[in-house]
Amino acid sequence: TEAKRTHKITLIPGDGIGPEVSGAVVKILETAGAATGVSFDWHTYDAGADAFAKTGEYIPKALYESIEQNKVALKGPVTTPIGGGFASINVTLRKKFDLYSNFRPIKNLPGLKTNYPGVDLIIVRENTEDLYAGLELMIVPGVAQSLKIITEKGSTRISKFAFEYARKFGRKKIHAIHKANIMKVTDGLFLDCARKVAAGFPEVTYAEHIVDNTCMQLVMNPYQYDVILTENLYGDILSDLCSAFVGGLGLVPGANLGLDCAIFEAVHGSAPDIAGKDMANPTALLQSAILMLRHIDEAETADLVQKALEAVYTEGKTLTKDVGGTSGTKAFADAVVAAL
Ligand code: NAD
Repeated sequence: TEAKRTHKITLIPGDGIGPEVSGAVVKILETAGAATGVSFDWHTYDAGADAFAKTGEYIPKALYESIEQNKVALKGPVTTPIGGGFASINVTLRKKFDLYSNFRPIKNLPGLKTNYPGVDLIIVRENTEDLYAGLELMIVPGVAQSLKIITEKGSTRISKFAFEYARKFGRKKIHAIHKANIMKVTDGLFLDCARKVAAGFPEVTYAEHIVDNTCMQLVMNPYQYDVILTENLYGDILSDLCSAFVGGLGLVPGANLGLDCAIFEAVHGSAPDIAGKDMANPTALLQSAILMLRHIDEAETADLVQKALEAVYTEGKTLTKDVGGTSGTKAFADAVVAAL
């Protein structure tokens, strides 16, 4: 028999619904791994307000070191205070590890009816700059400023990521999404870089859409898009819009990828409205974990989990409330475990 492979993975359960969805995902991965000869050595850390209460640091030094060593993390959502308080943990981690690419596949699950069947598009979002860097100041009382920094380096590397992905996985079309009619310098630079990269990939069709029009185009006909390449803030907003095609935020996974490290997390946040109620859908984090398994070359385990997840949706009997079911987080996770 095959020797057991062990992966050291940094686990940030997060807060709000984070502990519930990450608990479900860990259980499913442990079960799948037991069947395929893979085991996980989870290095678990708090972040955000919970970490501050325990260690006096929002991101404990030990957490940084753990990600540096393990290179791979699975992360639940972390609450960010609105209009004040500490800086976003998510943004801080993405910047610290230079996780410049945020990869978000939007694909319907079999058996789950939505108003948009058969959507299969990918959002590639620049993940380190733009207004999302949160470089803000109050210039004088009553006048606030936010710095939108767009660089040639940042725009070129995210464009390369999108085109190389398209080439590798046979994607046909890339739309760069922008507002360069108004932000001529920043979004203009982003487009210049995208165009230069596009020239090296003649087999991939390159097009450009303005972001407000894109919102309408997506709602009218998402099938016209294949890969969406965009800056940080537009990518953030378009991701939530696109999640509705496949059943909402409870479904859509994400990967934050850098040259050295990767952090896998759902698109959704900590969902305080349903936290602690056994209502959260762990599918988004589970699909993020499937991306993680592929990233660490555990395709067999990834396929196994994917098949079990699809079986539960196809059967449609043990689904969470956000997708029209009546089951809780735990019952859903148990159904996936049973399907394994
Ligand atoms: P949210 O994504 O937490 O919730 C939006 C809506 O979607 C809510 O009605 C929620 O109940 C629902 N929802 C989200 N995930 C769900 C799931 N798995 N199952 C079922 N329903 C789900 O967005 P928000 O309310 O705007 O943000 C809450 C907090 O999360 C904020 O502090 C925000 O900063 C933070 N946030 C964190 C991350 C992250 O950690 N990566 C991402 C986005 C938002």
